[in-house]
Amino acid sequence: MNLTLDYTIGEIKSKVDILTIVEESSLQLRKRGRNFIGLCPFHSEKTPSFSVNPHKNIFKCFGCGISGDQISLYAQLNGIKNGKAVSELAQRIGLSGKKLTKQQKIVVSKRQEDKTLEKRFEQEYKRLFYYLCTLRDYMKVKAKNYKDIDRVVLDPILILYYHESAYHEYLLDGLLAGLLDELNFDRQIDFFGSAIGVVNKWKGLLRKQKLKGFENVELISY
Ligand code: ZN
Repeated sequence: MNLTLDYTIGEIKSKVDILTIVEESSLQLRKRGRNFIGLCPFHSEKTPSFSVNPHKNIFKCFGCGISGDQISLYAQLNGIKNGKAVSELAQRIGLSGKKLTKQQKIVVSKRQEDKTLEKRFEQEYKRLFYYLCTLRDYMKVKAKNYKDIDRVVLDPILILYYHESAYHEYLLDGLLAGLLDELNFDRQIDFFGSAIGVVNKWKGLLRKQKLKGFENVELISY
């Protein structure tokens, strides 16, 4: 992608609100939680499965699967290609396709950096959730495998896990809420930090047990 186009798209994304695109259309959405939902304009349905997230400026239909940002929504609603949508929206915010200034080039590279970081954070976040689920499953199987209850209470690892399990569940709920986009970024960071602590601790405790899926845990702190 060329720099000018990259800059233009970045500017549109930061300056054109997806709700503005919605308001200009015939879409009827109502607020639910952090999102807006309504009937999908791209497939026929009776119950709403079309959802717009105004914080991330994205939309998704859980019925037909279509998704995208404010540019692709604008394109789809107006029956035009993405390229045309970009140039129309660029015009709207007063951008011309001229060469970039030095300052604008810096803006582009900063945005690319942020995007990479964001992606890596999201990936690490998912991995943490996966590790905590793996840990819970492992402990469940471990407890089940004991044929008599007296043995269960003699397993220090199991006892320790159950001692902490309410907290683990709390973290799992929090991470899941983050994955479902129900938390703001600060809360996500909170859960992320706490979950890293727990996973690193258990990674150490389970080193000898060779828990599958846990061998290669390498986590990056933020
Ligand atoms: Zn749909």
